[in-house]
Amino acid sequence: MFEKILIANRGEIALRIHRACKEMGISTVAVHSTADADAMHVRLADESVCIGPAPAKDSYLNIPAIVSAATITGADAVHPGYGFLSEEASFASILEEHGFTFIGPTAEHIELMGDKVAAKQAVENNGVPVVPGSRGAIESASEARSIAGDIGYPVLIKAAGGGGGRGMQIVQSADEVEDAYRMARTEAKASFRNDTVYMEKFLEKPRHIEVQVFADGQGGAVHLGERDCSLQRRHQKVLEEARSPALTNASREKIGKIASDAVRRIGYRNAGTIEFLYENGEFYFIEMNTRLQVEHPVTEMITGIDMVREQIRVAAGSPLSFEQSDITFEGHAIECRITAEHPETFAPSPGLITDYHPPGGISVRVDSGLYAGYSIPPHYDSLVAKLIVHGASRNECLMRLRRSLEEFVIGGIDTTIPLHAKIIDNLDFVNGDYDIHWLERFVAEDLVDN
Ligand code: ADP
Repeated sequence: MFEKILIANRGEIALRIHRACKEMGISTVAVHSTADADAMHVRLADESVCIGPAPAKDSYLNIPAIVSAATITGADAVHPGYGFLSEEASFASILEEHGFTFIGPTAEHIELMGDKVAAKQAVENNGVPVVPGSRGAIESASEARSIAGDIGYPVLIKAAGGGGGRGMQIVQSADEVEDAYRMARTEAKASFRNDTVYMEKFLEKPRHIEVQVFADGQGGAVHLGERDCSLQRRHQKVLEEARSPALTNASREKIGKIASDAVRRIGYRNAGTIEFLYENGEFYFIEMNTRLQVEHPVTEMITGIDMVREQIRVAAGSPLSFEQSDITFEGHAIECRITAEHPETFAPSPGLITDYHPPGGISVRVDSGLYAGYSIPPHYDSLVAKLIVHGASRNECLMRLRRSLEEFVIGGIDTTIPLHAKIIDNLDFVNGDYDIHWLERFVAEDLVDN
C-alpha cells in the first residue's frame, strides 16, 4: 500500500481524498495556488507545496509543477480528484513515467473515453445502447443534412472533445443544418482544440441517469447502482439523488449489468460513471467519465462503500474488495450542490465567509472546505459545499434535507441554499416527476413570480 499520496486538487474534493487517506494510515501532500494558501485542504494535509499563481493553468493544471511537488515530497501516488487534470491522459502517463502511480484508469482508457465518438463506438460494440445518430464523426454539412434526415429532427451537433455541457448545437430543421454545423466546428476548435463533431437525435424530455461502475482491471467489475442527475442548469448538475425515482428494480438491474459487463470487457480499472439519457423506458449512452464524480457521495450513502478508499486500493494493485452480490442498497440519498452564487440571478459571489454553521444530526453529511474567516477566491469553480442526506425512504430523506437546509448558515456571501429549499418543496420534485429541462423552467418561472 502507498505511504504518501499527493492530492492534485483543491476544495471539498481535496478534503474528501485527504479523509480517505488518513483513515487508511496514508500521509497526504496538498498542492495549492498562491490564492489557496489558507484553504482547508492545505491546513489539514500533512505537507503542502505551493505550485503556482492563482490562475488554474499556472497551478492546478501545471503538470511539471505537480510532478516536482510529488518528487520533492517523496509521494508514491497522485489522486487527481475531479475536474482539472483528472481526465488528462498525458498527466496519467507522465506520472507513470516518473514512477508515481496515477490513482485512476490507464492513460489509454482516459483517452478512449475522452473522445466521445470513439467512446460511443467502443461501448456500443460491448452491448451498451447509444443515442441514435451519426456513426462516427461528420465530415461535411451535406453529410450532416443527410444523417439528420434519416434520424429525424430535432438533432444535436456535439463536439467529440466536449465537456462541461459546452459545444452542443440544437438543429430544428434542414435549413438550420449548414450554419449549426459550421458554428459547432468553430466552437469545438476554439474550446477543445479539436473540431471533430458528431450528431445525435435530440431527446425532448429525457432524464439523466448514470450508473456507477467500479473495476479492478483484473476481471473484477461491479455496478453500485444509479444516480438521477436530471436537475441541471446550463447542462450542469445541481441536485442528484440515488436511487432514481423513475426506475423499476428490473430496469435498474438490467442497465447496471450492461454497464458492469461493458467495463469488464474493455479491461477498465478505477471508478467510472456511464451516463445515459432515459426516455420512454429506454436508456441511451451519452458518455463515460473515468474519474470520481462530484455526486459520488449519494452512492456512498446508500451502499456504505467508501469509493475513494476503493480507488486507492485498486490503484495499488488489489482486486476489488466486493463482488456484485455483496453490494446492497439501503434507503435514499440526495445531494445539493451549494455554490457561491445568487440563488435567483446566479451572479457569482466569492468573498469573506463571516459565519459558518453546517447542519448535523443523523444521516447528514457536509463535504466542504469552508470555515468562518475564510475568503473564497474568485478564480475557481463556484461549488463551496455539498449537503448529502440519507433517509430510510425518499420521503424521510426529503424531510431531513428540508430541516438540514434550514439549519445551514453560510454568512457573508450569496449561496444557492434558498434555491434548493424551493426545489424540494415543489410538488413535481416531491413526486419525482422531472426531466432534464425541468429546472431551467422552474428557475425562469420563479424569476417571473418575484
Ligand atoms: P458534457 O460532457 O459536456 O457534460 P454530455 O454528452 O454528457 O456532455 O451531455 C451533457 C448534457 O447535455 C446531458 O446531461 C443532457 O442534459 C444534454 N444532452 C446531451 N446529449 C443530448 C441528446 N442527444 N438529447 C438531449 N439532450 C442531450
